Amino acid sequence: DPDRVFNFAAGPATLPANVLKKAQAELYDWRGSGMSVMEMSHRGKEFLSIIQKAEADLRTLLNISDDYSVLFLQGGATTQFAAIPLNLCRPDDPVDFVVTGSWGDKAFKEAQKFCKPKAIWSGKSEKYTKIPSFDDLEQNPDTKYLHICANETIHGVEFKDYPIPKSGLLVADMSSNFCSKPVDVSKFAVIYAGAQKNVGPSGVTIVIIRKDLLGNAQEITPVMLDYKTQADNDSLYNTPPCYGIYMCGLVFEDLLAQGGLHEVEKKNKKKAELLYNAIDESNGFYRCPVEKSVRSLMNVPFTLEKSELEAEFIKEAAKEKMVQLKGHRSVGGMRASIYNAMPLAGVEKLVAFMKDFQARHA
Ligand code: PMP
Repeated sequence: DPDRVFNFAAGPATLPANVLKKAQAELYDWRGSGMSVMEMSHRGKEFLSIIQKAEADLRTLLNISDDYSVLFLQGGATTQFAAIPLNLCRPDDPVDFVVTGSWGDKAFKEAQKFCKPKAIWSGKSEKYTKIPSFDDLEQNPDTKYLHICANETIHGVEFKDYPIPKSGLLVADMSSNFCSKPVDVSKFAVIYAGAQKNVGPSGVTIVIIRKDLLGNAQEITPVMLDYKTQADNDSLYNTPPCYGIYMCGLVFEDLLAQGGLHEVEKKNKKKAELLYNAIDESNGFYRCPVEKSVRSLMNVPFTLEKSELEAEFIKEAAKEKMVQLKGHRSVGGMRASIYNAMPLAGVEKLVAFMKDFQARHA
């Protein structure tokens, strides 16, 4: 489609073209209801069918058992940085954090208001390019839970496997790799993710939580952050982000139609391999600082050896309709976010551009 760019933004991010077209076709009159989804009562049968289908499809995609509640909330993953300790701990409880990038660090800092978190490992001194060996982790024997950020969006560091938490409770921020590959949900106490990278627009936050953990929130917990209230009310305690949930539902249908998350992962691996190979085979013209075994399939940070050319790279790429390639302001360089909805053609075009740019500037 000549009107569309290849959008490498980290989030909000590109959505599948067929999903956008379906939403467009249903916008004015959702399936003969005579209204758009934005105009429906969140308690009417139409919207209930939408949210129930979205939940059922997500449960199928991730093979989520009945031992878990699935919640569609607001406030972004950032709100969950507070909600998780409020729901899982008393103020004096110790909690372990493995900090592999700036999102994990933000979660760690917010938790300090509601419990006694400890960063048992931090990759900061190595500029967040690594994941620790799990054997070396010194977990506190009394820790309530172990928190990780499964994919660091800014630094491009992704857990390929998960540590076994001493307390039995592993909590993961999956904002930027949610539904990008199969995940064994039974290994986790809580999984949370903002929707705006892989599964929908901003404004929806998905929380998957083991049901036996509900009902222990600290007394000061705002009602909107109490998972039990949200679970008891099927995410309809107040007015939910209806349109966003509808969009997530369309994305889940699309992921199922692609054959599920095993198939999605295969495509993501192929795209990431293409891009990392282009970087690694550039004789140092392009560089990715992240240790190879933990490179993210979703967010690919890279720099130019001749860093003075980076602005030119970004400008020329934009002229060729490849946008949002600037790295996060905290790390500089470039970052290509290649979420589920980035087509292979987008990555192929980027790689061809990178080779051409190198030939002109080497
Ligand atoms: N965690 C991760 C891994 C993220 O990438 C982001 C957003 N970029 C956040 C948390 C914060 O999410 P939100 O903006 O939805 O609060």
